[in-house]
Amino acid sequence: MKFETILRGIFSVTYQEADFVKRTHSALNKFGFTADNAIGCVDVCRDEISQSFFSHVRDAWGEAFNLSSLAGMFFAGRTALIAAMHHAPDADGKERYVFYAFPHIALGAEGQVGVCMRKGRGGESSACGALNAFQKEMAEKRVTLAMDNEDVEQSLLRMRLLQEIPYGHVPDLLELTRTAQKVIQRDLENTLKPIINTAQCDYAVITGIQIHGPEGNYIWPASCYAVIGGMKQEITLQ
Ligand SMILES: [Zn+2]
Repeated sequence: MKFETILRGIFSVTYQEADFVKRTHSALNKFGFTADNAIGCVDVCRDEISQSFFSHVRDAWGEAFNLSSLAGMFFAGRTALIAAMHHAPDADGKERYVFYAFPHIALGAEGQVGVCMRKGRGGESSACGALNAFQKEMAEKRVTLAMDNEDVEQSLLRMRLLQEIPYGHVPDLLELTRTAQKVIQRDLENTLKPIINTAQCDYAVITGIQIHGPEGNYIWPASCYAVIGGMKQEITLQ
């Protein structure tokens, strides 16, 4: 089966990554967001195959504030958001933030979930490695919930995601990635709402899943909206 057919079978709607960022940019232009008056804030995994997202955001909005952690989990927290909020342009008396937040997953040429090839390396690799490692721990019943000071982000990932997984259930990598997406969005929103002054700030939250195909990255959008003057409005990616 063709890769695109498999991709569409798993994720109903996807966009090539560069195209996705362009679409969000032009949709937000209509709400008054421009490269000159807005700042991008990006939360993706630390994996190098995720970093292309920053390049596309840089092309559209300029350099972005980095909110990333392993698996794209939102661990940067209130301190990072407050810092970003002291960095946005405010020339017209309004601050504008564009938050992009995604976990990621690889999809092989034959549709193998979690499988990717890496430049200069023989054999198959996996993504997201952090989610894959946690999934294997659950499958092998060897999850440890203690904080490991030599593995802080992965410890936090286990603690946070286990709150969302019914006791004894072992999700596969795709289900775990979908769970991570919901958690990342919720944690970002819950952290953002009490600290953002919507009388002074407009913002957009754009979340989904970053997918690594054999020929490049795609985005499945889960939730894309803007909050303008305190009013939530859906973004249409035409
Ligand atoms: Zn990852």
